[in-house]
Amino acid sequence: MKSKDLQAVFHGLDVGEIKWDEPLSKHTTWKIGGPADILVTPRKVEHLQLLAKTCNQNGIPWYVIGRGSNLLVRDGGIRGVVIKLADNFSEISVTDDRQVIAQAGRSYVSAANTAIRNGLEGLEFATGIPGTVGGAVMMNAGAHGGETKDVLLRADIVEKDGTIQTLHNQDLQFAYRYSILKDHPRIVVRATFQLRQGNTEEMQEKVRAWKKRRQTTQPLQLPNCGSVFRNPEGTHAGYLIEQSGLKGKTIGGAQISDLHANFIVNVNKATASDVLALIELVQTIIQKNFGMTLIPEVRIVGEG
Ligand SMILES: Cc1cc2nc3c(=O)[nH]c(=O)nc-3n(C[C@H](O)[C@H](O)[C@H](O)COP(=O)(O)OP(=O)(O)OC[C@H]3O[C@@H](n4cnc5c(N)ncnc54)[C@H](O)[C@@H]3O)c2cc1C
Repeated sequence: MKSKDLQAVFHGLDVGEIKWDEPLSKHTTWKIGGPADILVTPRKVEHLQLLAKTCNQNGIPWYVIGRGSNLLVRDGGIRGVVIKLADNFSEISVTDDRQVIAQAGRSYVSAANTAIRNGLEGLEFATGIPGTVGGAVMMNAGAHGGETKDVLLRADIVEKDGTIQTLHNQDLQFAYRYSILKDHPRIVVRATFQLRQGNTEEMQEKVRAWKKRRQTTQPLQLPNCGSVFRNPEGTHAGYLIEQSGLKGKTIGGAQISDLHANFIVNVNKATASDVLALIELVQTIIQKNFGMTLIPEVRIVGEG
């Protein structure tokens, strides 16, 4: 759809804040990514329902993002509508029966800290995952032996036609860094986590130790996207990359981190093409050295 037609469809539509030709490099932790035709930041569920319905009726493609902490947006950007659910969509509540109910844009770290402060155990693993609750449900994000699937009770989603559905844990077909939403994208609007009674101080101590470890093993001072590749069965992608002597390898402004070989860091105005070239190089060398195919964990989207 031409930009002129998009303007006609979106003129006066009550769906939240609308930005045109918005560089997505402003919305990803890698600080990389071409423009979205339209970036919408809705403030309420009704905005999302109207957005979904409007896109559906007019054949306009849409893509949801959270904090962009697992996204490589190609340099040509994303056509159609990008819907951002982050601080604009971040209410949270704690119930007497040990549930944390969070809107999809809530930071996962903050949802986990709310649980800990309330003496609820189960979400501590999320304190080092810098995405949103919605992104975590979609990705089945996990760390330190815990995964979203272990604590998620249900997620409310907006369907393509704008209706709301509740999906229970088993409906999401979780697997390692996978949910059914990867194959059938829909918009997560809210998630309910069922937690256990725990001890706040003990949880805080555990979380402090994990944080210290991450600070010494991950290149957190430079723009990055966490682990670039999924771990193959029985081994670690970072180990294979390090064993292949690829730490520090640089293409354009993108570099395989010296600190953690499964991280690619943006050292100097990297483009998506730089990162993609590094990804391809790593895949070729690991295939040659170990006969293994490394599969990206980061979601690669948009036009080249
Ligand atoms: C320093 C660092 C450390 C990290 N450590 C970990 C880790 O330990 N474990 C781990 O699992 N991940 C880790 N990650 C990756 C990332 O934080 C997670 O994958 C996170 O869940 C992505 O959330 P997001 O909101 O940033 O999603 P985005 O990157 O914005 O999007 C990721 C995917 O989720 C979809 N999505 C986002 N929001 C919604 C929604 N509301 N409804 C439907 N789909 C949605 C997007 O369409 C996209 O396909 C790390 C990243 C960084 C930068």
